[in-house]
Amino acid sequence: MVSSIFRNLLLKLGLPEGRLEVLEGKGGLMEDEFEGIGYVRFRDSARGFRRGTVVFEDGTVVAGFPHIKRVVQLENGIRRIFRRRPFYVEEKVDGYNVRVVTVKGRILALTRGGFVCPFTTERILDFINEEFFRDYPNLVLVGEMAGPESPYLVEGPPYVEEDIQFFLFDIQEKGTGRSIPAEERYKLAEEYGIPQVEVFGLYDRSMIEELYDLIERLSREGREGIVMKTPDMRKIAKYVTPYANINDIKIGSRIFFDLPHGYFMQRIKRLAFYLAEKRVRGEEFDEYARALGKALLRPFVESIHEVASGGEVEETFKVRVKNVSTAHKMVTHFERLGVKIHIEDIEDIGNGYWRITFKRVYPDATREIRELWNGLAF
Ligand code: ATP
Repeated sequence: MVSSIFRNLLLKLGLPEGRLEVLEGKGGLMEDEFEGIGYVRFRDSARGFRRGTVVFEDGTVVAGFPHIKRVVQLENGIRRIFRRRPFYVEEKVDGYNVRVVTVKGRILALTRGGFVCPFTTERILDFINEEFFRDYPNLVLVGEMAGPESPYLVEGPPYVEEDIQFFLFDIQEKGTGRSIPAEERYKLAEEYGIPQVEVFGLYDRSMIEELYDLIERLSREGREGIVMKTPDMRKIAKYVTPYANINDIKIGSRIFFDLPHGYFMQRIKRLAFYLAEKRVRGEEFDEYARALGKALLRPFVESIHEVASGGEVEETFKVRVKNVSTAHKMVTHFERLGVKIHIEDIEDIGNGYWRITFKRVYPDATREIRELWNGLAF
């Protein structure tokens, strides 16, 4: 249930009463609080409010980050989406999405689902200049947090060697969620020293060979892919490298039973389209086939061994925080996400930082493997 303060606020913002009630009835609206600042988040979309939209108690609206269309056949996808229009090609950085915004004098980092993330909020000023929000309180910085020490992902891009980094890829208006033009964003990022995703330049559909070369290089370097955007940010599409498809499968197969089957199928599909589009054959084809098979099977078999010898399916991750209390807030935050984690270790690493080691256990995957290993028949 949403309190009357938020009900009135949402009605004032144009959400019809009927929609509000339906949304509430199916749990699509959740009220939350972060260090004394109240907010509601949209778990579903509703009339002008995208999924992931956050409305704060002071009336600030931060629109949900929209879905980006994916192409799996690069050449035809580009023709279809961009036609004759040029588009910027940026790196798709492998991390988690954050929207950074100022509310009631505080700078907060929101997750894709619309939670204020205690970890990212605590760390965000390590990466971006506060000055930006003094000059542009009405803008939202959208970027990817990526690196080996991430609370949400087990891996980061190869060039972030330690800790975590912020990479800006969009600047949007509060309220509408409208993106500012790409070139304006590049300029603002430069001016305020905000780190941004790598921009590979302006391309068009006649430059498909250059794009193939770029994808091949990114794949070789263990990078995730590209996002293509018209300068006005109205048309956007993403494409991932064969490396990323196989690597995601490798990461996922350790926790095979915890992921929907579609997770694996989608990535196999994308890889197959890459192999077909690039007409990969012979030895190179065999290498991909071997890599895919290994990615799918090896970590899966390893977790079976782990459970068969009495262990559990689990993941360990480390993050750096300034206050140990932030680590405890993350445990609570994960509980709200329905995820069980616990703190394994807290270490003072100097310069005002603590390294926290978390362990995430997968009780369902563990039980399922244990039962099958013990001979469960069905
Ligand atoms: P959706 O399909 O809804 O876009 P998803 O999580 O399934 O979400 P992803 O494959 O993760 O899709 O790709 C979209 C995400 O890529 C964005 O939400 C954003 O966090 C991330 N991203 C990384 N780099 C960029 C970039 N340069 N431009 C836009 N998004 C980027």
